[in-house]
Amino acid sequence: MAEGARSAVVWFRRDLRVGDQPTFLAAADAADRALALFVLDPALVTPSGGARLTFLYRALRSLDESLGGRLLVVRGDPADVVPRVAAAVDAASVHVAADFGPYGRRRDEAVAKGLADAGRELVRTGSPYAVAPGRVRKDDGQPFRVFTPFRRAWLEHGWREPAETSADTVDWLDPSGGDGGPRAVPIPDDEPVDAELPGASEAAALRQWRAFLSDAVERYGDDRNRPDVEGTSRMSVYLKYGLVHPRTLLADVARQRGRSSEVYRSEIAWRDFYADVLFHRPDSARENYDKAFDALPPASGDDAVAAFDRWREGRTGFPIVDAGMRQLREQAWMHNRVRMITASFLVKDLHLPWWWGARHFMGMLVDGDLASNQHGWQWTAGTGTDAAPYFRVFNPVTQGLRFDPDGDYVRRFVPELRGVPGRAVHTPWELPDGPPTGYPEPMVDHKVERQEALERYERVKAARR
Ligand code: FAD
Repeated sequence: MAEGARSAVVWFRRDLRVGDQPTFLAAADAADRALALFVLDPALVTPSGGARLTFLYRALRSLDESLGGRLLVVRGDPADVVPRVAAAVDAASVHVAADFGPYGRRRDEAVAKGLADAGRELVRTGSPYAVAPGRVRKDDGQPFRVFTPFRRAWLEHGWREPAETSADTVDWLDPSGGDGGPRAVPIPDDEPVDAELPGASEAAALRQWRAFLSDAVERYGDDRNRPDVEGTSRMSVYLKYGLVHPRTLLADVARQRGRSSEVYRSEIAWRDFYADVLFHRPDSARENYDKAFDALPPASGDDAVAAFDRWREGRTGFPIVDAGMRQLREQAWMHNRVRMITASFLVKDLHLPWWWGARHFMGMLVDGDLASNQHGWQWTAGTGTDAAPYFRVFNPVTQGLRFDPDGDYVRRFVPELRGVPGRAVHTPWELPDGPPTGYPEPMVDHKVERQEALERYERVKAARR
């Protein structure tokens, strides 16, 4: 490096892209050259399922390519390795997009302290959200607990325009340049996963987004609840790893007219809302947001485990539930409507704790995101914010008939039912010869379990009094 040149580090985490990168602008302002860094942190790698790890490794390979092979990958605890990397290139600042998750905040505090001890700074610019958690509050300064007023305030708050950046915004240091830093490791090979994963690059994200914009977005308001049509944007995994920023999506939908663009904006608001809720209540990642639900006895015993296994395998005997669980296995993704149906079935038909299901989803989903997943589960279970009332129990048959009206979604994912035509596929036990060979009878009587769910809810109400 030239004598007297100032250096910085750009530490990538959930922003594996080169476009719309405010951290690049901040690093380019602060220094002449910067090192691009990714840390394989065992605390995050270990709990991630194979689909997410494979997607991450592919996205890292693609990012490295975009940066001309200049991404330094190291392994270890960021509190240890990030200050060592910064010291090796004598960086005055390390630039990141702020993380608001429970672990990410603790980690970043530890890294900031380690850097400060050596006279260096952790500079947070932007976040993975349109509006960073903690920003939107009620007039009295309290966080929102209900989505609709949050969305109103979120829209009023607004967000910045996408930043114009590319790989050339920063003059990247050679990753082997520094002395005494942690050892570079290769980006790991894919994990063994059977699921078909989407393309893991910034270009693939933008391609998918443009395809949605040019075709499905107009029908989104009507089609987003239909798992049998390609009606949603499939952006969740790209948002999860920051291959695209929600600002970019919001700027594009703002140019579209009509109800669908409004609806799409609301969905992005849900993502920000749940991140905000988790920010204010980090305990809600593992515990009931509404503590009155702690009054319900936890499920245990062999029967509970056996029921859970049937749900996981997609062998409940309720076709829409089974199709969803098998889509999860085949694609490491599930349609939102079916996430709600399968989650409701676990909690209100099988009476199992939401966190069993949430943990399974997190292990399987390629877009698994702590805030959206845990609160998607809590919303469905009725234990969360702005909850669907607990007494509203999804009927898996009527949900199937309504949202998969011809049964195409079920037939696509449940091969045993492929020979059953039309809507009859949602009630195979009513076929003259019963369910086709290999497909189970319903594992519970929905009417009975609904009643049980309502009785359990009475206990919660009593605990509230
Ligand atoms: P689109 O309909 O195209 O929506 C666009 C974007 O809006 C999504 O990519 C997502 O970022 C956001 N969004 C849409 N719906 C929601 C929602 N209900 N909550 C939060 N954000 C939303 N989403 C995840 O990203 N990760 C998860 O781990 C996750 N787990 C969930 C678990 C349950 C039980 C439920 C009910 C929902 C969960 N969701 C999760 C939300 C939602 O199902 C997915 O974001 C959506 O299915 C992703 O597909 P898409 O990108 O095609 O969505």
